Amino acid sequence: MERCFVAQQFHDNYERKFYYLRLSVTDVCNFKCTYCLPDGYKPSGSRNSSFLTLPEIKRVVSAFAASGTSKVRITGGEPSLRKDFTDIIATTAQTSGIEKVATTTNGYRMEKHVGEWREAGLTHINVSVDSLDPRMFHQITGQNRFHQVMAGIDRAFEVGYEQVKVNVVLMKNLNYQELPRFLDWIKHRSIQLRFIELMQTGEMDDLFQNHHVSGTSIRNHLIANGWLLKAKEKNDGPAQVYVHPDYQGEIGLIMPYEKHFCETCNRLRISALGKLHLCLFGEEGVELRDLLQTEDQQPELIARIQAHLRTKSVSHFLHDGHTGMTPHLASIGG
Ligand code: SAM
Ligand code: SF4
Repeated sequence: MERCFVAQQFHDNYERKFYYLRLSVTDVCNFKCTYCLPDGYKPSGSRNSSFLTLPEIKRVVSAFAASGTSKVRITGGEPSLRKDFTDIIATTAQTSGIEKVATTTNGYRMEKHVGEWREAGLTHINVSVDSLDPRMFHQITGQNRFHQVMAGIDRAFEVGYEQVKVNVVLMKNLNYQELPRFLDWIKHRSIQLRFIELMQTGEMDDLFQNHHVSGTSIRNHLIANGWLLKAKEKNDGPAQVYVHPDYQGEIGLIMPYEKHFCETCNRLRISALGKLHLCLFGEEGVELRDLLQTEDQQPELIARIQAHLRTKSVSHFLHDGHTGMTPHLASIGG
């Protein structure tokens, strides 16, 4: 019989409380997005074989749930490439206290498997679609799979999802000019389109300089055209969400370079190798794996996480050009 610990809510020195865990389950990906893994996934040594196992995932999720986490996003790399992805969803969904189980996927496996993911307990789904032009999609992701990903979105609605979130990394001279097309696309579809500003990571060279564009002009366009800012719920992400009476869909803007972005931070990250990351752009990560081996280590695991939370900095330092230790977002799950 599993023991259940009720711990204090995870919190930091700036009165931020953490309700939301982003759990990476693999670094592996089959896409080559220009801003993430332009040369494709390259295994680093023998680490490939040591991604968190299902029992380890169960323990880490239980520790977070016991400390106030109610939402878990399963991410990667490409999380759906794990053979036990459906079991990971089920294990997470069955953890007492977890109300929302989300994933972020490139959509490659969605058409075939989204039904079983839903049955296993996946409540929310985000799929990345950087362009509505199949050729541009291919150019950005390195995969000629636009129609397959779109079929996956259709299938998600068929199996019962009421809304699908679609992530678009905004890039000047690539997809930025597609805004009108994206807006048309969500007019009669229950899609929340999330425009994410391109973030600079350790391995990125000229791409950031050439393609970064602020979401401000999109926000100005939305406001000028009657879109209204929606109120946030406690475990919502950092997106500013806009709604419009003539549109079934919604627009989310994720602007990490904007002042005050970190003030409402409510999420923590676990890498596929079992390290705690206090910030996407933080340092090395805190080893947790030694405390994921048995159930009775839970109090110690919780104590280690809470102790490190005391060191979480008030903000990232992206503005000063410090991208932290993250080589690319596939390594800790975006
Ligand atoms: N493979 C899955 C996918 O692409 O949806 C999940 C992992 S991916 C790292 C998570 C999200 O991070 C995706 O929406 C991706 O577009 C976004 N992302 C990756 N690198 C980024 C960057 N440098 N700037 C902004 N967003 C990025
Ligand atoms: Fe893979 Fe996602 Fe990175 Fe694209 S953004 S390379 S799909 S992990």
